[in-house]
Formats: sequence, C-alpha cells, structure tokens
Amino acid sequence: MISDTESFTLAQHLTDSGLRSTPHREVVYQVILAKRNHPTAEEIFARVKALRPTISLATVYNCLDTLVQCDLIRQVNFVREPTRYCPNLHEHAHFHDETTGEIHDIAIPADLTARLREILPPGYAAEHIDLSFRGSVKK
Ligand SMILES: [Zn+2]
Repeated sequence: MISDTESFTLAQHLTDSGLRSTPHREVVYQVILAKRNHPTAEEIFARVKALRPTISLATVYNCLDTLVQCDLIRQVNFVREPTRYCPNLHEHAHFHDETTGEIHDIAIPADLTARLREILPPGYAAEHIDLSFRGSVKK
C-alpha cells in the first residue's frame, strides 16, 4: 500500500503541475514504489493489472507520462531497450548488469557530480546528468 507520505508527495507534485491525483495515477505510482527494479511499462502494466484488472495499457502509459512530467519518476533509457522507470529522484547512476539484466542504482558522490559539471563547455549548465554503466560481476 502507498504510505500517507508518499500519497501526499504524489498529490503535491500533481497539484504543482496543475493535475489531480486519480486512483489510476496512485496505483501506478504505488507499484513503482513497491518494487524498485526499474520496470518497463509492460512490467508495470502487468503489476497494475493484478490490482486493477480493468486498466488498459494506454492508461498506464498516460499515468507514466504524467508521473514523469511531475518529476515523481524518471525515465531510464538504454540503447535498443524499452524505456524503464525509476522512482529514485536523488542524483544517481545506473549499472546495467549484462548477465542478469538487472539495473542497479549507484549513488553519485556530490563532489563527483560537481566535477562532471565542470567538464561542460563554458556557458552551459546541466539540469540533469544521465550516467550509466554496463557490465557484470567481476570474475
Ligand atoms: Zn534508478
């Protein structure tokens, strides 16, 4: 179940964006928070369907778009793979384990973020840094 704090966060972010919290948006957000393994829209759809059998894939996509717009979740894209969704809003990198297919969040130390911003050409500022690694467990 979605906690009161998370429910408040959802409502607050939606209101800030001029939108309402709806049961569909809540259930989609709830399943993303419940299992934070960077699911695809199809995987989220399957989990939501277990709770709300009548929901459509199109509705789930609409909810995901709304949650991304409201900065409650972030899209994670890897080349030649479907978009995944991540509710971790702290600055972090992703590690894609090519053996298991799992995606792990890697915290980025603040000083590293600052150093990365320094390599931008003069006059540019980054709103967001997308950093991803691919690999597997060291042998
Ligand atoms: Zn993530």
